[in-house]
Formats: sequence, C-alpha cells, structure tokens
Amino acid sequence: MSVDLRRQTEISMLDSARFFFDRAADILKLEEPLRELLRYPKRKLIVNFPIRMDNGKVQHFEGYRVQHHPVLGPTKGGIRYHPDVSLDEVEALSVLMAWKCSVMGLPFGGAKGGVKCNPKEMSLGERERLTRRYASEIAPIIGPDVDIPAPDVYTGEREMAWIVDTISMHHDGQFMPGLVTGKPLVLGGSLGRDTATGRGAYFVAVQLIKNMKMKLEGSTAAVQGFGNAGSVIANNLHDSGAKIIALSDSRGGITKSTGLDPHKVMEYKEKNGTVVGFPSSEKISNNDLLELNCDLLAPAALENQLTEKNASKIKAKAVIEVANGPTTMKADEMLYERGISVVPDILANAGGVTVSYFEWVQDRAFYFWSAEEVDLKLKQFMDSAFQRVWDMHVEKKVSLRTASYLVAIDRVAKAARARGIYA
Ligand code: GLU
Repeated sequence: MSVDLRRQTEISMLDSARFFFDRAADILKLEEPLRELLRYPKRKLIVNFPIRMDNGKVQHFEGYRVQHHPVLGPTKGGIRYHPDVSLDEVEALSVLMAWKCSVMGLPFGGAKGGVKCNPKEMSLGERERLTRRYASEIAPIIGPDVDIPAPDVYTGEREMAWIVDTISMHHDGQFMPGLVTGKPLVLGGSLGRDTATGRGAYFVAVQLIKNMKMKLEGSTAAVQGFGNAGSVIANNLHDSGAKIIALSDSRGGITKSTGLDPHKVMEYKEKNGTVVGFPSSEKISNNDLLELNCDLLAPAALENQLTEKNASKIKAKAVIEVANGPTTMKADEMLYERGISVVPDILANAGGVTVSYFEWVQDRAFYFWSAEEVDLKLKQFMDSAFQRVWDMHVEKKVSLRTASYLVAIDRVAKAARARGIYA
C-alpha cells in the first residue's frame, strides 16, 4: 500500500526519462511506430540468484540488465550495486544511455544493469561471488558485439576484471577484453578511463562558459559529490582558475567563500574518509550546497537532487549534470523558466562512455593509445557534441536538455528508418 502511494506522488526517473523523450518526439514529429519502438527498451532481464555469504548462509539477490535498442550498434552501459536499485530505475538509466551514446555520435545503443545489494556491508569475497554469479546470469545477453557492460555506482575496475574472467571461462578460457570496459589497464583497459567522466564534464563546462559569454577564471563553482567524477571536475575547474566554493560527499559538505583547493581536500578525505572537517572550511548540508550563490553547480552524486522543492531556490547560473538523472522533470521546467542553463546528464557525463568506446576500439585492435591521445580525442568528441547541441538549442529555441534529446533521438530514428522493419 505505502509503495503504491509513493509511486503516485513521487516522480520517478522513469517518468522523467519518458517525459523528456515525449517532449523531443513531439517536436521531431516522430511517427507513431518509431515512437513506440524507441520509448521502451527492447529487453529487460530479471535474474534471481543465491550467494554463499561469509557466515555460511545462503542469501538471494535480484539483478537486472535492460537493453534499449541495438539500432546503431551493440548496447552499452554500466552496472550498479545499490540497495535502491530497481527494474524501473535500470530501465530509465538504459534509456538515458541510449540518448547519451547517440548524442555523442557513438556506434552504440543504451543499456544498464544493477544488483539490489549493499556493497558497503559486503566483504571482498562476497562481492566477488556476487559479481561472478551475476555475470553468469546475464551472460546469455552480453558480449563484445551485443551488449558491453561498464562500471557505474559502487562498481569499478575490480568488478570488470571479475566479469571478463568469468565470461571468458564460459568461452573455453578465451580472453575477451572487448566484453566490458572500465577494466584495469593490464587487462586491456584504457588510459584516461578512470578520470573520463569528470574530464568530459569539465570540457563541457568550458564550452558552456564560452557560449554564455562568461569567463572561467574567477567564476565560482559548487560540486555535490566528491567521488570519481566530482573530484575530477572540481580539480580541473580549480586548475583553470575557477573558485570552488563548496564540495560534499555522502557524509555532508564544506564551504569556503574564498575557495577550496580540491587537491588538498582529497588528501584530507583520503586520511579522514570524508571532506567534512577540512581545515578552515564551514560545514554545509548536501541540500544547502545546491542552493549556494555560484556560477556553476555540478550535482555529481545521485539522482533526484534538483526537485520541485528546491528548484525555485537554486541561485547558480548554470547546472552541469555530472550524475545521471539529478534533475526531475518538474525541476527541469522550473529551472528553464528561471533562465538557468542546465547541461543534461546525457551530454555532461558522457565522457565516461566515450572513453569506454575508445577502450573497446583499442581492445578490438589490440593497439593502445597514449594518455595524451585519449585526452585529445575525448576533447574533440565532447566539443563537437556540445556544438551540435548548442546549435540545436539556438535554432529551435529550446533548453539544452531538449536540444540534446532532439539531436540524439533524431540520429537513432534516422538509423531505424534506414534499416526498416524485418517482419
Ligand atoms: N556508467 C557510465 C554512464 O552512466 C559509463 C557507461 C559505459 O562506460 O558504458 O555513463
């Protein structure tokens, strides 16, 4: 009962993803059969499996893998481990991945996977057994030419290495590096993959500032989430002369009007496990950080941070969505009406999947690029995607989010029309 009530009042990520799709599909006047095809994923797999825990007891876990459409190429997207993972969330994220890959011009469709679990409460051995068993469960629908997983929330190169090893064992031990991206370097990972999401978001921020006729040097930024992506964009902005006035992690935030040095904050966090308590900073909550007066706000933590409750209080000039789905559809409209530019997740955090694409290309060629080459190509991909979106935003007089969806959906629709229907 309470679950149903919650579903009626809360806007889920899936509602938002469908709303953003419909809005763009209306503008594109997308024909009905294509609208039906692209609004929903092609495949949703639910797996239920047992794991032997360290205490000898057997516990069951539920996992998912959802694939949008392999129109442009194999589907692509991460795997997350989180207690709140659900089929609806994974579906929404697979749709976001589809538009993300398309807006970037990558030859991929979208996908996402997840396991409902709390990795923070599991031992290394339990996480390994869970990862290997989940990989075997989704093995029938993944592969280097079919669907290529990658890291996402609470997964990383260690999980990717276990997945490659497990699936390779299913193929007579044949090493299959192109099966997942975000692997350790020694197993065919790419230089620059670990910093790619934050680095890509930084390139987007630079282009946005330029197009808004502002200056990066001396501008102010607040970053919510000081993990892999948030710390990189904070470092890059700081190194380019921007002032980082606030940072946060899951335990809370810190603020300093004269600016924080994120490199020093990282050293502090490595010793203390949190940014909170960093010398000469003031404590601030994750919610209050969002409402600070600044030029750039980068939500780089989890979804649903900018909602109808706080959208009227946001004072930033622009929002760079480093996390997936940080803005609900209502908040998105409110921010647009208030003249706040929002670079949507499907563009702002696409650096990760773009370097995943580079990794996959390198694995297929068994020829590996230098860090400089990866960084240069990432900048080229981010800059040209940003330009496509900015031009659409100016031409159609729509928000950057709608413009991104228009670019992305139009490309997939054109490919689907060219392929026609096999029936
Ligand atoms: N999980 C990342 C994302 O949401 C990366 C996906 C990938 O590299 O395939 O974009």
